[in-house]
Amino acid sequence: MTSSGMTGKLCGDCTMCCKIMAIEQLGKPAHAWCPHCQPRRGCTIYRDRPAECAAFSCLWLMNDLLDHDWKPSKARFVLTTSDDGIEVRCDPGYPDAWRRAPYEAEIREWARSGEEHDVTVIVISNRGVVLITPEHDFDLGEVGPDERIVRELEGTRVVDARVVKIDTAAKA
Ligand code: SF4
Ligand code: SF4
Repeated sequence: MTSSGMTGKLCGDCTMCCKIMAIEQLGKPAHAWCPHCQPRRGCTIYRDRPAECAAFSCLWLMNDLLDHDWKPSKARFVLTTSDDGIEVRCDPGYPDAWRRAPYEAEIREWARSGEEHDVTVIVISNRGVVLITPEHDFDLGEVGPDERIVRELEGTRVVDARVVKIDTAAKA
């Protein structure tokens, strides 16, 4: 959705976010091509694209530490961040792409570091949401906009996770 980032990287022939991300202003759901996208070529309404498209940059584009292997068009997932941590958003045709080398080991390392710094790492695909920890995957299914993930901790280690309504979470 962006042509370049502060790192000097270029989207080039990548158009993955135009498939994977939901675009509220267009009513476009996640995991479906935007009707304005020419896959691997770009946006046909680039000058008039929605503000949320213009504002979006994936983590690969913004982070110098992520090399070409992590470019979404090659990796088949888009990395994003939220207030809670890191999100691995998978191409629906490749929901397990993150498990390939070199990705899974690095993503679990982010999860290991995340346990120490209260940062979550989740994988989002058309199968739902999976919370990643250094040793385990917690399959949480769909997580709605009025829901959030609550982790059970032993020290800093995540030993369980569940999805609760936001009101319930606020009272917990
Ligand atoms: S996923 Fe990242 S690299 Fe690919 S088009 Fe979107 S912002 Fe650019
Ligand atoms: S409007 Fe353009 S930039 Fe936004 S999702 Fe569609 S193709 Fe991508």
